[in-house]
Amino acid sequence: MSHVVMIVDDSRMIRMQVCRALQGQGFRTVEAADGQDAWEKLTRGEPIDVMVCDVNMPRMNGIELLEKLRSPGGFEDLPVVMLTTEGDPDIVRRARSLGAKGWLVKPFQAELLVATVQRMIGVVVS
Ligand SMILES: [Mg+2]
Repeated sequence: MSHVVMIVDDSRMIRMQVCRALQGQGFRTVEAADGQDAWEKLTRGEPIDVMVCDVNMPRMNGIELLEKLRSPGGFEDLPVVMLTTEGDPDIVRRARSLGAKGWLVKPFQAELLVATVQRMIGVVVS
């Protein structure tokens, strides 16, 4: 059974690149254009195993989305990897304190992204 990764980014290009990298390794992917879109899809019942999430997005940014995920509602344990150009230490610290499990910087390396997502779900790379 393949795992499902939600890619939350306001850049269509980034979403495409991330989806391509993950699909190449057998993951299923779901896209969301911003935090609000992601939240709506999650609360509608999209089954997601891991989230890859941008920080800077319109409507609801990545930190705001993390805050919503960490408040009671059933998504507290969803592993989240941030994928962003953002390097502000305060924002990194905030994301960590909200339980973000990984931090990848754009432009991302496909292999590192895949390895990080695999680590989130405990997939052993053979
Ligand atoms: Mg963005």
